[in-house]
Amino acid sequence: MGIKLEINGRNIEAEKGETILSALNRNGMHVPTICSMKDLSPSGACRMCVVEVEGRDNLVPSCSFPIEEPMKIKTHSPRVLRARKTNVELLLSNHPDDCLYCERNGSCELQSLSEDLNIRERRIPGKRSPQKIDKSSPAIIRDPSKCILCGRCVRICEEIMSTSTLDFAHRGNELKISTTLAKPLNYSNCTSCGQCLVACPTGALIEHVQFPELEAHIHAPDKLVMVQYSPAVAVSVAELLGYKPGTDLSGIINAVLRRYGFDKVFETSFGADLMIIEQARIYQEHKDLGHDFPLITSSCPAWIHYAEQYYPELLPFLSPLKSPQQMAGALMRKWFNETGEGKGKELISVLISSCLAAKTEARRVELIPAGLPVIDLVLSTRELARMIKLSGLDLEQLEPELPDAPFYSTASAGKLCGVAGGEAEATVRTIYAQITSTEMPPSKLHRVRINKSFREMTVKAGKSEIRMGTVSGLSNAVALIEELKMGKRNMDFLEVMACPDGCINGGGQPIPAEEKLIRTRTKAVYDLDNGSKLHTAHGCKLVQEIYRDKLKEPGGELSRELFYTSYSKREVLL
Ligand code: SF4
Ligand code: SF4
Repeated sequence: MGIKLEINGRNIEAEKGETILSALNRNGMHVPTICSMKDLSPSGACRMCVVEVEGRDNLVPSCSFPIEEPMKIKTHSPRVLRARKTNVELLLSNHPDDCLYCERNGSCELQSLSEDLNIRERRIPGKRSPQKIDKSSPAIIRDPSKCILCGRCVRICEEIMSTSTLDFAHRGNELKISTTLAKPLNYSNCTSCGQCLVACPTGALIEHVQFPELEAHIHAPDKLVMVQYSPAVAVSVAELLGYKPGTDLSGIINAVLRRYGFDKVFETSFGADLMIIEQARIYQEHKDLGHDFPLITSSCPAWIHYAEQYYPELLPFLSPLKSPQQMAGALMRKWFNETGEGKGKELISVLISSCLAAKTEARRVELIPAGLPVIDLVLSTRELARMIKLSGLDLEQLEPELPDAPFYSTASAGKLCGVAGGEAEATVRTIYAQITSTEMPPSKLHRVRINKSFREMTVKAGKSEIRMGTVSGLSNAVALIEELKMGKRNMDFLEVMACPDGCINGGGQPIPAEEKLIRTRTKAVYDLDNGSKLHTAHGCKLVQEIYRDKLKEPGGELSRELFYTSYSKREVLL
């Protein structure tokens, strides 16, 4: 601390070397930004955050200007506002005029800046040339005509997701964002994590929306349409429906989906409970084989995609399980194919997920037995909100309902998988019970619930030790894996989630993904677990019944047929 700043007549103190923007934000002052994002390196490209510094001829970008000496700053002087307005007008000069039809209508930062700066006409006409829209990815559509070259997608893909699929190409007027070797997204190294899409301020990166395809199925009498939704969806969709952020709407979602026309409504947390039970068995097998590398989770499809590309040598250490949604989907399909309810009907399986990579995962050939996908349509949390609004249902009038039998769990273990660290925590509870034949007090693992991208803990289980770790954000995962490979750390069990903070901050989640909202969503998941009467997947009677009546035992013949898969090296275009 120590450098005095006068901002719009108010005195504050700043640290030497801190940027003006950081000092402003820390003191509750706001200037608009486009290219700047928390946790990403500043670029100063958009010049939206310019401020006037006394004694300087030119305006300075506050996001990249370091404070070295006392300064007098004006953040909203007429000169600053004029400059910001011109900058937005320049961005709009060649921007398409289809806001009404744009996927980001209502959540576009360019749109709201134009509104805030009172821009009511196109004052600067620019050349608009047709651009090819890339629809190759099952998850993401890229429309370069809406790109404002802020570079947020480039930096998040490189700095947070360690993938570098997107980058600037060419110079001057030709400058644009391109993919690796200018290939369509689906032929690049993109993992479909969707973090670039959440970061993009405009409609240049949007999801492959699938909910309109539901119409062809939902009321068809010859179809049985089942839906499952992930735990992160239940505590996040509230933000888009006018509820208090963090409200758990699962009971209402069950009621809404039934009214909408789904024949069967399930929660993916049931599949997560099955995954936890199977994973605890695989953990024991892994230990018995004496591996010197941890068993690594495989529930995150973006992480799997990344590992197949960049860490083929680690594939033998990956859990051979499918993701919870694919496990649940496979069991649901088998069940309704064999029971009276599904006989003679076409089964349509829908997933509502916080994960955008689940859209690409559903098209993996390994997960399409006999040419039939286990999951037909994957909708995001955002799509669920739109579907609910379109239905015209008054949520206030609906009573919460339970999911359908028989795939319903009363445990909170599977729900924990919505946050980074939750899968590790829930799995270790079951491993502990497996080793000691006693239940671990759930609070024993609460020490891993800190707000850090990497956490580790050693749990004593009888005479054994379970050295667990959890990491989120692919760049953090890469750093950790390199340490494990060099023997700088030792672990028995490692959870990897591609998205920072896990599924709660997935690419299919509400936009904007502000840090405060992500903390609120995470707390909501932990509150569900804290308030639960049953914390373990293996303790749930309904899960036990499925094993008793159908699956017989973890790792049994049917479990292997439905839940296990194999992962293999994927060639990367670089
Ligand atoms: S989806 Fe993820 S991996 Fe693909 S371009 Fe975007 S940030 Fe990069
Ligand atoms: S695609 Fe979006 S995030 Fe990337 S540079 Fe263009 S406007 Fe910015």
